[in-house]
Amino acid sequence: MDYKLTEEQQALKKEFEDFFREEMKDAPPAYQKNALEAMYGDDDGWQFHKSMQKKLAEKGWFTMAWPKEYGGREAPIIEQLIFSEVHAYYRAPGIDGFGVGMFAPTLMQFANEEQKERLLPPIARGEVNYCQAWSEPNAGSDLAALTTTAIKEGDHYVVNGQKVWTTGAHRADRMFLLARTDPSQKRSSGLSVFNVNMSIPGIEVRPIHYMDGTHLYNEIFFSDVIIPEHDRIGPEHEGWKSTRATMNFERSSVGSYASAKRSLEELLEYVKTTKRGGRLLYENPMVRQKLAKLYIDIERGRDLAYRVAWNQGKGNFLVSATGASESKVFGTELFQRLANFATEIMGLHGQLGSSKWAPLDGVMSDAYQWSLGMNIAAGSSEIQRNIIAWVGVGLPRFK
Ligand SMILES: Cc1cc2nc3c(=O)[nH]c(=O)nc-3n(C[C@H](O)[C@H](O)[C@H](O)COP(=O)(O)OP(=O)(O)OC[C@H]3O[C@@H](n4cnc5c(N)ncnc54)[C@H](O)[C@@H]3O)c2cc1C
Repeated sequence: MDYKLTEEQQALKKEFEDFFREEMKDAPPAYQKNALEAMYGDDDGWQFHKSMQKKLAEKGWFTMAWPKEYGGREAPIIEQLIFSEVHAYYRAPGIDGFGVGMFAPTLMQFANEEQKERLLPPIARGEVNYCQAWSEPNAGSDLAALTTTAIKEGDHYVVNGQKVWTTGAHRADRMFLLARTDPSQKRSSGLSVFNVNMSIPGIEVRPIHYMDGTHLYNEIFFSDVIIPEHDRIGPEHEGWKSTRATMNFERSSVGSYASAKRSLEELLEYVKTTKRGGRLLYENPMVRQKLAKLYIDIERGRDLAYRVAWNQGKGNFLVSATGASESKVFGTELFQRLANFATEIMGLHGQLGSSKWAPLDGVMSDAYQWSLGMNIAAGSSEIQRNIIAWVGVGLPRFK
């Protein structure tokens, strides 16, 4: 594995940086803190995301590594990683993580040719946004316990049930749905994956407001929703296999380390300019030790994320399975440590969000609240460690 940047790649990186530095000058203020909150949280943020999505699609940047036949240009995976890092560092929107990052690679591997031709180009052109309809009130960590049914009747399926925590469902055009197509089968057997248009009758989206008041998450209720058979992805009742692949795509992000790097830089600015007891904070040995540790973790986490993406790019999904879990748990816990340390050294003011007294305009307080959910989303830390204990350490599977 060698991901040293060539001269061309360095030039490409600079092109991305110049683009985002310029474009983000016009971003609504919420993008200073958190791209996802800004994107889904209000209409201005969403419009800014959509216009950025068009620009990025025209440049072909979020599909660089895709096969040419689906609108990509088969660029080396390293170029896609460089783009993802720069994009995350600038807290930029414009990428539908669910469609581009999760469902599209799943389609490439598991969909039939007609579905690939129909569903991939709109994602590549930035015309659609997806959401991920998996979790249910009694099926989160234990996703295989899900009870939403999709029962076949002639040439279509009838869906009934409920999903929860569906990020961005109130903005999305489509969802990828995991539902039970054979209720006589248990657990991971008898499940299928569907591409679903959000505007069809019988789908109701209700908001869940997060503890900081933002609206990113939702419940979805299905009442006799009709899905045509041609929108089932992969063989009937065998959706668990493709869903496991989708999980790996979700958990391998290099972007989280670029976000952490940006937050660390903001924190460094704070410790260089803020005094406690007559001394600048950076002169405190404990502060220096902790910042050094965060720096080491960000650099090593970045290596880990590159390794996972490298293996996924080469189709080594078994190697990347535990790596994706390692990267997910390490990245989210690192971000939480960083935000926790930042709010600690800021004292009581560090807990303020929007206030003239909030250090760094409340970016660390926001980061801390955000980090709590990130340890749970896409599979909690405990679940990632269970996977690592089983697949990586080699312990017998815990029932
Ligand atoms: C911010 C956020 C965004 C999300 N977005 C989406 C989305 O877009 N689409 C979607 O489908 N879902 C989404 N989710 C749901 C997410 O996938 C689930 O919350 C997650 O899988 C945990 O499930 P749960 O909430 O039901 O908790 P539970 O599964 O009930 O877990 C509760 C606690 O028990 C622990 N636990 C459970 N089982 C074990 C075990 N076997 N061993 C050790 N500990 C265990 C967990 O780690 C956790 O601490 C989101 C969640 C969050 C917080």
